[in-house]
Amino acid sequence: MKFLLLLLLAAHPASAYGRTADIRLYSLHKISSISLEPEGRDVLLGDRRLGPSRIYSRGAAVALDGKIKAGPVKTLRISTHGAGVWLSGPGLPRRLYTGDIVFSAARNSLRIINTVPLEVYLAGVVTGEAGDLSRLEAYKAQAVAARTYLVKHLKNHAGEGYNLCDSTHCQLYTGTGEVSATARAAVEGTSGEILLYRGVPAEAYYHSVCGGRTEDMSYVWPPERLPYLVSVRDGPAGRPYCSIAPGFRWKTKLYYTGLTRLARQAGWIVADEEAKGLRISAWGPSGRAAELEIYTQRRRVKVPATDFYHGIGRRAGWNAVRSSYFRLLPARDYVMLDGLGNGHGVGMCQWGAEGMARKGFKYRDILKHYYPGTEIGYD
Ligand SMILES: [Zn+2]
Ligand SMILES: [Zn+2]
Repeated sequence: MKFLLLLLLAAHPASAYGRTADIRLYSLHKISSISLEPEGRDVLLGDRRLGPSRIYSRGAAVALDGKIKAGPVKTLRISTHGAGVWLSGPGLPRRLYTGDIVFSAARNSLRIINTVPLEVYLAGVVTGEAGDLSRLEAYKAQAVAARTYLVKHLKNHAGEGYNLCDSTHCQLYTGTGEVSATARAAVEGTSGEILLYRGVPAEAYYHSVCGGRTEDMSYVWPPERLPYLVSVRDGPAGRPYCSIAPGFRWKTKLYYTGLTRLARQAGWIVADEEAKGLRISAWGPSGRAAELEIYTQRRRVKVPATDFYHGIGRRAGWNAVRSSYFRLLPARDYVMLDGLGNGHGVGMCQWGAEGMARKGFKYRDILKHYYPGTEIGYD
């Protein structure tokens, strides 16, 4: 049966099933050696069957240690033939990958590129991105958004010789070890479908929780603007679809001493300046802050809200300021951020998609709601 299926797939090389993407694995890590544990007996290095082994860098070359040995050579290619191989190492999460994996090195650091079928990759991405959701229709909306992003961004790392990295810089991909049945069903149930605007693949941005209203793209990443990434009210007034999300509302005390430190690190203020106050100086159509002002002893410094959100998140943790949808309640030593939602607020609200699915909406309704004017098509 498996053999027949392979034959059928091989007969349609142009279909989505036959297409692959090159993904850089562990892209945020500097790795000098990595352990491999093949799952099943079909994992090969050339024509030799691979056992548990270790691959390590040697300057600009790689070598393999284990039952079979290889290298140092420029590249090593492992073929999993539909099975998988577990990768792990010091400081690296242990993950299962399928497809072909090519190892190379530069300056004693391993570079790992995984050639994986698009739909397998997508099931992994959807598992990671929709992990907290439960409804199939929400997963399907997520699958179409993730596939659209994939199609649109296949050239993200073209200059570096691969398509996408596995971090949130592109889309988070953590392999196939924990792919959920719902994610797989969602990818299969929307096979090949992407979001189009006037016949062209759309920018299908998404985020965790909008907090009641999504934001117009041009206020989050000015000056970019797209007619389908506008602010939409997320459900009936007072009862947004995403209000079911854990952490829908949040509060954070931002002490001026901490803000001073963060603002100096971010280069918003100079070494002898102290942050003594914070106010919102411009808002987007959703009610999110679009620009903030930090008061120091001698001036007011304007900071775009997206920079503020990223700057604080990068230095104090992404839970400190979860969105730019907040009001400020000043106190003596600190300012209280009383906020809603989680994420940048542009495009689909993932928890809103879940809320809509629970109310009986189908994935096409969900996508139309968050990306008005778009339609579903094929690439
Ligand atoms: Zn990337
Ligand atoms: Zn929402």
